[in-house]
Amino acid sequence: MKLELHACKKCKLLTAEKNCPNHPDEKLTREWYGFIFVQDVKESVIARETGITKEGKYAIKVRQ
Ligand SMILES: [Zn+2]
Repeated sequence: MKLELHACKKCKLLTAEKNCPNHPDEKLTREWYGFIFVQDVKESVIARETGITKEGKYAIKVRQ
């Protein structure tokens, strides 16, 4: 399986689109490592700790 996902430098959201849906002006990068999948934002401890407010895939590390 080949993932062609790009990470938003601002919110670390991983997307297959050309722009981050949250930050259309922010640059996306392929220089990211590891990811978490947040399904239920209210139940997710990781989401709370990282400040994620929307479900989705997020990179753990993004090179700035
Ligand atoms: Zn973003």
